[in-house]
Amino acid sequence: YSGKKPGQDISETMNNMKVGDFQSIPVVVREDVSVYDAISQMFLDDVGTLFVVDKKSFLTGVLSRKDLLRTSLGNQDLSTIPVHIIMTRMPNVTFCFKNEPLIQAAHRLINQQIDALPVVIEQPEGLKVIGRLTKTNITRAFLSLSESHEL
Ligand code: ADP
Repeated sequence: YSGKKPGQDISETMNNMKVGDFQSIPVVVREDVSVYDAISQMFLDDVGTLFVVDKKSFLTGVLSRKDLLRTSLGNQDLSTIPVHIIMTRMPNVTFCFKNEPLIQAAHRLINQQIDALPVVIEQPEGLKVIGRLTKTNITRAFLSLSESHEL
């Protein structure tokens, strides 16, 4: 016996997959850091999306590679522009929860045409970032289906 479940269980397995089972560590920057430092951070931590927080660590925005590239095209001093000027800001940030079905978060990534969602906890004063869900995590989940099932 291969240890794989028969093919008919695959939809059940898929429905049981939660964001928290596949999420990655979030990389966050403060909203007053410069675009220059955000670019450095992106290379250092090898991520494509940075989450932006205020001084109380509540989510205020998102920075993608192209947000930073766009700003770099202008003739501006990147070390003097704070990221809150160029980020996609709340309430326009799309997020998810760790106990949510993965398939639901995957729909959100595709519908909004974005690469990553912050995984958050809701608090009275705002959202705390506890994880990062990317298209890579969805691809990994997709592969895990083929490992646990006879296809
Ligand atoms: P890139 O811009 O590098 O292709 P994305 O496709 O993820 O990366 O981002 C496209 C745009 O959507 C960017 O302006 C970015 O700020 C914004 N964005 C990225 N992630 C989110 C999110 N979770 N919620 C809202 N906007 C987002």
